[in-house]
Amino acid sequence: MREFGAGDSLAAKRIFRIVLNDPAASRGIIRGRLGYTAKGQPVNAWYFPGTSDERALIIGGMHGSELSSIALAEELIAALQEGERPSYSVVIVPRLFPDNAAEAIGQPKQLGSFQNIGRYSCKGATDPNRQMPSPGRAFDPSTGLDHMGRRIERENQFLLQLIQDFRPSRIANLHAIRDESKGGIYADPRTDHFGIALGFESDSTLAIEMALAALEAGGSMKGNGLPERYNTLYYKDPAAVAAGQWQPRNFIGSFGKQLRGAGVSMGTWGSTAIALERQSRTQSPSNARDHG
Ligand SMILES: [Zn+2]
Repeated sequence: MREFGAGDSLAAKRIFRIVLNDPAASRGIIRGRLGYTAKGQPVNAWYFPGTSDERALIIGGMHGSELSSIALAEELIAALQEGERPSYSVVIVPRLFPDNAAEAIGQPKQLGSFQNIGRYSCKGATDPNRQMPSPGRAFDPSTGLDHMGRRIERENQFLLQLIQDFRPSRIANLHAIRDESKGGIYADPRTDHFGIALGFESDSTLAIEMALAALEAGGSMKGNGLPERYNTLYYKDPAAVAAGQWQPRNFIGSFGKQLRGAGVSMGTWGSTAIALERQSRTQSPSNARDHG
Protein backbone atom coordinates (compact mmCIF):
# COMPACT_ATOMS: atom_id res chain seq x y z
CA MET A 1 0.00 0.00 0.00
CA ARG A 2 1.26 3.45 -0.87
CA GLU A 3 0.78 5.59 2.19
CA PHE A 4 1.83 8.85 0.64
CA GLY A 5 1.04 9.58 -2.97
CA ALA A 6 2.03 12.87 -4.56
CA GLY A 7 0.53 15.63 -2.49
CA ASP A 8 -1.51 13.27 -0.38
CA SER A 9 -2.20 15.72 2.38
CA LEU A 10 -4.83 13.60 4.08
CA ALA A 11 -2.31 10.80 4.65
CA ALA A 12 0.28 13.34 5.72
CA LYS A 13 -2.05 14.74 8.36
CA ARG A 14 -1.51 11.57 10.36
CA ILE A 15 2.21 12.19 10.76
CA PHE A 16 1.61 15.24 12.98
CA ARG A 17 -0.08 14.77 16.32
CA ILE A 18 -1.52 18.26 16.12
CA VAL A 19 -2.54 19.93 12.84
CA LEU A 20 -2.72 23.71 13.02
CA ASN A 21 -4.33 24.69 9.73
CA ASP A 22 -6.69 23.55 7.02
CA PRO A 23 -4.51 22.01 4.31
CA ALA A 24 -7.35 22.27 1.79
CA ALA A 25 -7.15 26.04 2.11
CA SER A 26 -3.36 26.25 1.81
CA ARG A 27 -2.27 24.25 -1.27
CA GLY A 28 -1.98 21.11 0.85
CA ILE A 29 0.69 22.66 3.04
CA ILE A 30 0.28 21.53 6.62
CA ARG A 31 1.55 23.24 9.72
CA GLY A 32 1.72 20.72 12.50
CA ARG A 33 3.12 20.02 15.89
CA LEU A 34 5.03 16.94 16.99
CA GLY A 35 4.51 17.66 20.68
CA TYR A 36 5.80 19.83 23.50
CA THR A 37 9.13 20.13 25.26
CA ALA A 38 9.75 19.74 28.97
CA LYS A 39 9.42 23.53 29.25
CA GLY A 40 6.15 23.54 27.33
CA GLN A 41 7.44 24.87 24.01
CA PRO A 42 5.93 23.42 20.84
CA VAL A 43 8.06 21.35 18.47
CA ASN A 44 6.63 22.50 15.15
CA ALA A 45 6.82 20.87 11.74
CA TRP A 46 5.71 21.68 8.20
CA TYR A 47 4.59 19.39 5.42
CA PHE A 48 4.91 20.49 1.79
CA PRO A 49 3.30 18.16 -0.76
CA GLY A 50 5.50 17.30 -3.72
CA THR A 51 4.84 16.32 -7.31
CA SER A 52 6.34 12.82 -6.93
CA ASP A 53 5.92 9.97 -4.46
CA GLU A 54 9.40 10.59 -3.00
CA ARG A 55 9.70 11.99 0.50
CA ALA A 56 12.40 14.03 2.24
CA LEU A 57 12.89 15.29 5.78
CA ILE A 58 14.86 18.38 6.82
CA ILE A 59 15.89 18.88 10.45
CA GLY A 60 17.08 22.18 11.94
CA GLY A 61 18.31 22.82 15.46
CA MET A 62 19.19 19.32 16.56
CA HIS A 63 21.95 21.19 18.32
CA GLY A 64 20.21 24.18 19.90
CA SER A 65 23.48 26.11 19.94
CA GLU A 66 23.60 26.09 16.13
CA LEU A 67 21.13 28.88 15.45
CA SER A 68 22.15 29.24 11.81
CA SER A 69 20.76 25.75 11.13
CA ILE A 70 17.40 26.97 12.44
CA ALA A 71 17.59 30.13 10.36
CA LEU A 72 18.30 28.08 7.24
CA ALA A 73 15.37 25.73 7.88
CA GLU A 74 13.08 28.72 8.42
CA GLU A 75 14.26 30.29 5.16
CA LEU A 76 13.47 27.04 3.38
CA ILE A 77 9.96 27.04 4.85
CA ALA A 78 9.41 30.60 3.65
CA ALA A 79 10.71 29.71 0.17
CA LEU A 80 8.49 26.63 -0.11
CA GLN A 81 5.44 28.59 1.05
CA GLU A 82 5.94 31.01 -1.81
CA GLY A 83 7.37 28.80 -4.51
CA GLU A 84 6.23 25.99 -6.76
CA ARG A 85 5.59 22.50 -5.51
CA PRO A 86 8.84 20.65 -4.87
CA SER A 87 9.49 17.30 -6.52
CA TYR A 88 9.77 15.48 -3.19
CA SER A 89 7.11 15.85 -0.52
CA VAL A 90 9.01 17.50 2.31
CA VAL A 91 8.65 17.66 6.07
CA ILE A 92 10.70 20.36 7.80
CA VAL A 93 11.27 20.45 11.55
CA PRO A 94 13.01 23.81 11.87
CA ARG A 95 13.72 23.85 15.60
CA LEU A 96 13.91 20.38 17.04
CA PHE A 97 15.16 21.43 20.50
CA PRO A 98 13.47 24.79 21.14
CA ASP A 99 14.37 24.80 24.85
CA ASN A 100 18.06 24.45 23.98
CA ALA A 101 17.85 27.08 21.24
CA ALA A 102 16.27 29.45 23.78
CA GLU A 103 19.31 28.94 26.02
CA ALA A 104 21.61 29.95 23.15
CA ILE A 105 19.46 32.93 22.18
CA GLY A 106 19.47 34.05 25.81
CA GLN A 107 23.26 34.44 25.81
CA PRO A 108 24.03 36.17 22.51
CA LYS A 109 27.59 37.09 23.49
CA GLN A 110 28.45 33.41 23.78
CA LEU A 111 27.19 32.47 20.30
CA GLY A 112 29.88 30.57 18.45
CA SER A 113 32.06 30.32 21.55
CA PHE A 114 33.43 27.11 22.97
CA GLN A 115 30.84 27.35 25.75
CA ASN A 116 28.46 25.57 23.33
CA ILE A 117 25.45 26.98 25.17
CA GLY A 118 22.35 25.12 24.04
CA ARG A 119 24.13 22.10 22.59
CA TYR A 120 23.14 19.84 25.48
CA SER A 121 19.81 19.85 27.24
CA CYS A 122 21.43 19.94 30.67
CA LYS A 123 24.76 19.37 32.39
CA GLY A 124 25.88 15.82 31.70
CA ALA A 125 23.17 15.21 29.09
CA THR A 126 23.99 13.10 26.06
CA ASP A 127 24.70 14.86 22.76
CA PRO A 128 21.31 15.13 21.01
CA ASN A 129 22.88 13.74 17.83
CA ARG A 130 24.11 10.61 19.63
CA GLN A 131 20.78 9.34 20.92
CA MET A 132 19.60 7.14 18.08
CA PRO A 133 18.66 3.45 18.32
CA SER A 134 21.08 0.74 17.22
CA PRO A 135 21.76 0.84 13.49
CA GLY A 136 19.40 -1.51 11.67
CA ARG A 137 16.82 -1.43 14.45
CA ALA A 138 13.56 0.48 14.58
CA PHE A 139 12.87 3.06 17.25
CA ASP A 140 10.82 1.38 19.96
CA PRO A 141 8.54 3.94 21.63
CA SER A 142 7.60 1.48 24.36
CA THR A 143 11.12 1.67 25.81
CA GLY A 144 12.43 4.90 24.28
CA LEU A 145 16.04 3.74 24.64
CA ASP A 146 19.01 4.55 22.42
CA HIS A 147 21.81 2.23 21.24
CA MET A 148 23.65 2.71 24.54
CA GLY A 149 20.56 1.88 26.62
CA ARG A 150 20.03 5.53 27.60
CA ARG A 151 16.67 7.25 27.52
CA ILE A 152 16.17 9.18 24.27
CA GLU A 153 15.15 12.79 24.93
CA ARG A 154 11.56 13.51 24.07
CA GLU A 155 12.36 15.82 21.12
CA ASN A 156 14.36 13.04 19.50
CA GLN A 157 11.55 10.58 20.26
CA PHE A 158 9.19 12.89 18.34
CA LEU A 159 11.68 12.93 15.48
CA LEU A 160 12.19 9.17 15.40
CA GLN A 161 8.44 8.54 15.44
CA LEU A 162 8.02 11.06 12.63
CA ILE A 163 10.67 9.27 10.56
CA GLN A 164 9.00 5.90 11.11
CA ASP A 165 5.60 7.29 10.12
CA PHE A 166 6.75 9.42 7.18
CA ARG A 167 9.51 7.10 5.92
CA PRO A 168 11.61 9.62 4.02
CA SER A 169 14.13 8.32 1.49
CA ARG A 170 16.33 11.37 2.13
CA ILE A 171 17.10 13.19 5.38
CA ALA A 172 19.02 16.47 5.60
CA ASN A 173 20.21 17.20 9.13
CA LEU A 174 21.34 20.84 9.29
CA HIS A 175 24.23 21.78 11.55
CA ALA A 176 26.61 24.67 12.07
CA ILE A 177 30.36 24.43 12.47
CA ARG A 178 32.88 26.77 14.08
CA ASP A 179 35.76 25.79 11.77
CA GLU A 180 34.77 27.05 8.33
CA SER A 181 37.34 24.79 6.67
CA LYS A 182 35.19 21.83 7.77
CA GLY A 183 31.86 23.25 6.58
CA GLY A 184 30.13 21.59 3.66
CA ILE A 185 27.44 19.22 2.45
CA TYR A 186 28.12 15.62 3.33
CA ALA A 187 26.50 12.26 2.75
CA ASP A 188 26.44 9.16 4.92
CA PRO A 189 27.02 5.83 3.19
CA ARG A 190 23.86 3.74 3.08
CA THR A 191 24.03 0.16 4.27
CA ASP A 192 21.68 -2.75 4.76
CA HIS A 193 20.68 -3.66 8.32
CA PHE A 194 23.85 -5.72 8.76
CA GLY A 195 26.02 -2.72 7.94
CA ILE A 196 26.96 -3.89 4.46
CA ALA A 197 27.47 -0.96 2.08
CA LEU A 198 24.90 -0.46 -0.67
CA GLY A 199 26.99 1.93 -2.76
CA PHE A 200 27.83 5.57 -2.08
CA GLU A 201 28.01 7.03 -5.55
CA SER A 202 24.52 8.41 -6.12
CA ASP A 203 24.28 10.04 -2.68
CA SER A 204 27.82 11.35 -2.95
CA THR A 205 27.06 12.81 -6.37
CA LEU A 206 23.96 14.52 -5.03
CA ALA A 207 25.94 16.05 -2.15
CA ILE A 208 28.48 17.42 -4.64
CA GLU A 209 25.74 18.83 -6.86
CA MET A 210 24.26 20.56 -3.81
CA ALA A 211 27.66 21.84 -2.72
CA LEU A 212 28.37 23.21 -6.21
CA ALA A 213 25.02 25.00 -6.22
CA ALA A 214 25.73 26.42 -2.75
CA LEU A 215 29.21 27.52 -3.85
CA GLU A 216 27.74 29.27 -6.86
CA ALA A 217 25.30 31.04 -4.57
CA GLY A 218 28.19 32.38 -2.52
CA GLY A 219 28.42 29.71 0.18
CA SER A 220 31.66 28.51 1.69
CA MET A 221 32.05 24.82 0.88
CA LYS A 222 35.63 24.37 2.03
CA GLY A 223 34.95 21.00 3.65
CA ASN A 224 33.89 19.66 0.26
CA GLY A 225 37.24 20.79 -1.16
CA LEU A 226 35.67 22.40 -4.21
CA PRO A 227 36.72 23.02 -6.88
CA GLU A 228 39.98 21.04 -6.53
CA ARG A 229 38.56 18.02 -4.73
CA TYR A 230 35.11 16.48 -4.44
CA ASN A 231 34.86 15.32 -0.84
CA THR A 232 31.45 14.30 0.52
CA LEU A 233 32.48 12.67 3.82
CA TYR A 234 32.53 14.54 7.11
CA TYR A 235 36.13 14.68 8.28
CA LYS A 236 35.48 12.60 11.41
CA ASP A 237 33.76 9.77 9.57
CA PRO A 238 35.45 6.65 8.19
CA ALA A 239 35.91 6.38 4.43
CA ALA A 240 33.07 4.92 2.38
CA VAL A 241 33.74 1.34 1.30
CA ALA A 242 32.66 -0.34 -1.93
CA ALA A 243 29.19 -1.85 -2.19
CA GLY A 244 29.12 -5.29 -0.60
CA GLN A 245 31.80 -4.46 2.00
CA TRP A 246 31.20 -3.82 5.68
CA GLN A 247 30.98 -0.07 6.33
CA PRO A 248 32.85 1.22 9.43
CA ARG A 249 31.00 3.95 11.38
CA ASN A 250 31.93 6.65 13.85
CA PHE A 251 30.44 5.90 17.28
CA ILE A 252 32.44 8.41 19.27
CA GLY A 253 31.70 11.95 18.06
CA SER A 254 32.71 15.00 20.02
CA PHE A 255 33.62 15.12 23.71
CA GLY A 256 34.14 11.37 23.87
CA LYS A 257 35.85 11.46 27.24
CA GLN A 258 32.57 12.08 29.04
CA LEU A 259 30.70 9.57 26.88
CA ARG A 260 28.06 12.20 26.21
CA GLY A 261 29.32 12.26 22.62
CA ALA A 262 29.31 8.47 22.30
CA GLY A 263 26.43 6.71 20.63
CA VAL A 264 24.68 6.52 17.29
CA SER A 265 24.14 9.66 15.23
CA MET A 266 21.25 10.39 12.89
CA GLY A 267 23.72 10.04 10.01
CA THR A 268 24.50 6.46 10.99
CA TRP A 269 21.01 5.35 12.03
CA GLY A 270 19.25 7.14 9.18
CA SER A 271 21.45 5.64 6.47
CA THR A 272 21.12 2.08 7.78
CA ALA A 273 18.18 0.01 6.57
CA ILE A 274 15.83 -1.20 9.29
CA ALA A 275 15.48 -4.96 9.60
CA LEU A 276 12.07 -6.52 9.82
CA GLU A 277 10.76 -5.72 13.27
CA ARG A 278 10.79 -9.38 14.24
CA GLN A 279 14.44 -9.64 13.26
CA SER A 280 15.16 -6.35 14.92
CA ARG A 281 14.27 -7.74 18.31
CA THR A 282 16.05 -11.06 18.06
CA GLN A 283 19.28 -10.20 16.27
CA SER A 284 22.01 -7.74 16.94
CA PRO A 285 23.90 -7.83 13.66
CA SER A 286 25.99 -4.76 14.26
CA ASN A 287 26.76 -4.93 17.96
CA ALA A 288 29.91 -7.01 17.62
CA ARG A 289 31.45 -4.35 15.40
CA ASP A 290 30.02 -1.25 16.98
CA HIS A 291 33.14 0.14 18.49
CA GLY A 292 35.36 -0.30 15.47
ZN1 LIG B 1 25.39 20.18 15.21
